[in-house]
Amino acid sequence: MGLIVQKFGGTSVADAERINRAARRAIKAKLAGHKVCVVVSAMGKTTDKLVELASQISSNPPKREMDMLLSTGEQISIALMAMAIYEMGHSAISMTGGQVGLYTDSAHTKARITKIDADRIFKHLNNGDIVIVAGFQGIDEQGNITTLGRGGSDTTAVALAAVLNADVCEIYTDVNGIYTADPRVVPKARKLGKITYDEILELASLGASVMHNRSIEFGKKYGVPIHVRSSLTDEQGTIICEETPNMEEITVRGVTVKKDLARITLMGVPDKKGIAAKIFHSISSENIVVDDIIQNPLPDGNANISFTVEKADFREARTISEKINTELGGKGVAYDDQVAKVSVVGIGMRSHTGVAAKMFEALAEAGINIQNISTSEIKISCIVSRDEADEALRKIHTAFGLDSTEE
Ligand code: ASP
Ligand code: MG
Repeated sequence: MGLIVQKFGGTSVADAERINRAARRAIKAKLAGHKVCVVVSAMGKTTDKLVELASQISSNPPKREMDMLLSTGEQISIALMAMAIYEMGHSAISMTGGQVGLYTDSAHTKARITKIDADRIFKHLNNGDIVIVAGFQGIDEQGNITTLGRGGSDTTAVALAAVLNADVCEIYTDVNGIYTADPRVVPKARKLGKITYDEILELASLGASVMHNRSIEFGKKYGVPIHVRSSLTDEQGTIICEETPNMEEITVRGVTVKKDLARITLMGVPDKKGIAAKIFHSISSENIVVDDIIQNPLPDGNANISFTVEKADFREARTISEKINTELGGKGVAYDDQVAKVSVVGIGMRSHTGVAAKMFEALAEAGINIQNISTSEIKISCIVSRDEADEALRKIHTAFGLDSTEE
């Protein structure tokens, strides 16, 4: 007999029928002898609709009121889910973030969990109730309702699984699991049986959208196995877990592409100490996150410094770069706002050689030019032109033997 946390995302509770289906799943786990804590998101596109509604009233609503508004979405789901369970003859209790004692800091709309008082949940679980918790929300020390940032129900679920010391945190969603690549781009992508926390974190930072990133960080920190699976079938999904010995045998676990990038190059700036510090200090003080940076020394004692930024930050980064270029007496600013980054990720890279060579060969064979390369212990990324990015991804996927053999 164990303890299971089940999280149902927006599409998995989008209407009455799906709420009933989720309720049946929770009851099934309970009948199998487990204590069951359920975390739910807002139904379907509710949160988007609330955001839209707010924008009709105010172009800059107070963040505290935004949280007050957005937290209502999950409150609808928990009540309906508890009713569904009652209707099926079992006992359940719904609770808001504040009621379960999920405390956060006061950073409205992107609050971080500071502590969870699990006593009340335990009391009900021990009583045999299925406990239904509103995802994505908490309460600060002053009693204000806070939210954890869009997609934050995942984090509620994994954090609860950690404090409850659950055997597993099941994430029910509209896909069957995690794939070697986005199947919309790579039709031959395969579902993974297992993936490590580090690989998922790396893939997410390189463009894959799987789960709220902080949920994975929680999972990793507290060693909570996370099972991402479909709410429509009983099929096994993908387990996100700690590394196990044989997981290193596979070099590349997955590939991903990040499309909305732009590259900026400061040309011919003095190659002296303190220059890079000055440039990147100015950029970061505008809260712009810089991705890869390359510095090329030139024979004349100057250097070219290139970096990539998200496209949304491009204009601002370019304006700042032009200003710095003038201050430093550089030769000008070049840019390309049509670039993308393709990456391969896998913990097996730590112990296998030739991964980079294989990736470059695949791109060369496809006639795709690599503009920039960056690596870490478990990833290799190449900047390519955006219109070639999808093709690049498919070619790399094939080269690393990731293609599904099913037709
Ligand atoms: N309902 C919230 C959102 O849409 C939280 C979540 O679904 O995880 O972002
Ligand atoms: Mg979600």
